[in-house]
Amino acid sequence: MSSDLNILYAAQVARIMDDGRPRHGDHQGRLDLISGGGIAIRNGRIAAVDSTEVILRDFRDDVPTIDATGMTVLPGLVECHSHPIFAGNRHWEYVRRLQGATSRQIRAEGGGIWSTILATREADDLSLIQQARRGYAAILAGGVTTLEVKSGYGLTTPQELRLLRLLRESSATTEMDLVYTFLGAHIAPRDGPTPEDYARVVQDEMLPAVIAQGIAAFHDITCEEGDFPAPLARKLLEDSRRRGMPTRVHADASSPSHGWRVAVEGGAVAADHLTYTPDEDIRSVGATGTIAVLLPMAEQFYLDDRKANARLFIENDVPLAIATDYCSSFQASSLTLSIAQACSWFRLTPAEAIVAATLNPAYVLKKNQDRGSIDPGKRGDLTLFACSHPNELGVKVGAPLVRYVISMGRVIHHGAPAPVLLP
Ligand SMILES: [Zn+2]
Repeated sequence: MSSDLNILYAAQVARIMDDGRPRHGDHQGRLDLISGGGIAIRNGRIAAVDSTEVILRDFRDDVPTIDATGMTVLPGLVECHSHPIFAGNRHWEYVRRLQGATSRQIRAEGGGIWSTILATREADDLSLIQQARRGYAAILAGGVTTLEVKSGYGLTTPQELRLLRLLRESSATTEMDLVYTFLGAHIAPRDGPTPEDYARVVQDEMLPAVIAQGIAAFHDITCEEGDFPAPLARKLLEDSRRRGMPTRVHADASSPSHGWRVAVEGGAVAADHLTYTPDEDIRSVGATGTIAVLLPMAEQFYLDDRKANARLFIENDVPLAIATDYCSSFQASSLTLSIAQACSWFRLTPAEAIVAATLNPAYVLKKNQDRGSIDPGKRGDLTLFACSHPNELGVKVGAPLVRYVISMGRVIHHGAPAPVLLP
C-alpha cells in the first residue's frame, strides 16, 4: 500500500544522494543537508526533495502533511544484520560473561548458540513467529524501515527451510520490509557431523533447496577458526557464487580467521563483525566494493578485547555499514542507538555512522535502487527524529528521538513525544 504525503519545514533533511555506489573514504560522511527542507511523496515514491518553499510552490496538493518543524529527516534506516527467529532465553550468559566466564565455560554450562538451536528445534511455529514479532516491534521503534533477517538456528535441512518459511510468514506481523538470508553455515553442529561433513550438507542439500524454493536473497557463511575455517568458508563461497547466489560472511568475530580476505576474494557483498581482522589484512586487501558491516553493540556486549578498526577501513576506501546484530544472546534492537554507539566506540562522526545505517546497508541488501537515500524515484521511506541536526543522534543518547517512521509514504510508527511536566 502506498500513499501521498508532504513533509514540510524540517530543520534538516539529510538527502544522502546516491551516486551509484556505496559511500566510502572521504564520502562516507557526506549527508547533503537541506536546511528548512521539504519532501513530496506521491504514490509511495519520492517526487521531490527541496526547500519547503519549493515543495509548497510545486506540490501544494490536498495531501496529508507532516509539520517537521524542529526535526531531522533521514532516509528510512536499513538494518542489515539480525537473527530474530529463535527460542530460549540466554540472559544469564551475560551475567556469567560479566563475572569473567569465557565463551568456552559458558558453552560447558549449557549456553552458547548451540543451546538456542536445541530450543528452536523444539519450539512450535507459532511461538517462533511471536518471538520474531516482538523483535520487529522493538526494531521498528528504533527507526528501521527495511530489515534483513537470517535463519541459522536450525542447522538441519528441514529446520533451516522451516525457519526461512516462518520468517516469510512473520512478515505479516510487521510493516517493515524484510529481506531474507539463509545462514546454514552459522556454527558447526555439536551433535555429530564434522564441520567438513556439515559444510557438504549445506552445499549439496540446503543451498540447492533454498535456491529452488526461492526463499532467500543471500547466503551467509561463517568464516571462523573452530567452525568453518578459511578453506572451508572459501569453498562454500565459491559454490554459492557458481550457483548465482549472492553471499555475505560472518568474519573474524571471535578470532583472526582471514574472514575479511576470504569475503573479498570470494566476491561477498559484505563481511560482518571484523572485530579481530588484523590491521595488516585491511591494508593488504585495500580498496574493495565488499562492504564492512560493523556491530558496535555486539562488541560491547561480548566484552571483546578488540574492536573493528573502522577508521582503517575508511582510510582504505572500504564502505562501512553498521547494524545491531539483534540475536538470541543479546537483543539490541535500536539502530538509532547503534548510530550513537558507533560514534563513541569506533570514533565515527555522526554523519559517517548515519550513512552506515542508510545508504550503505541498502547496498549490502542490494536494495539501493529504491532505498537508502532521499532521491526522486526511490521509495518514500523516511525516519523523522526529534532533533534539529543529525549530529544530535550522537549526543542525545537514549532519548526517544524517533518521531515518525514512514514506509512508501505511510506512517508505520509514531513515537509519542516524551511528556513535559510543567512546574
Ligand atoms: Zn550475526
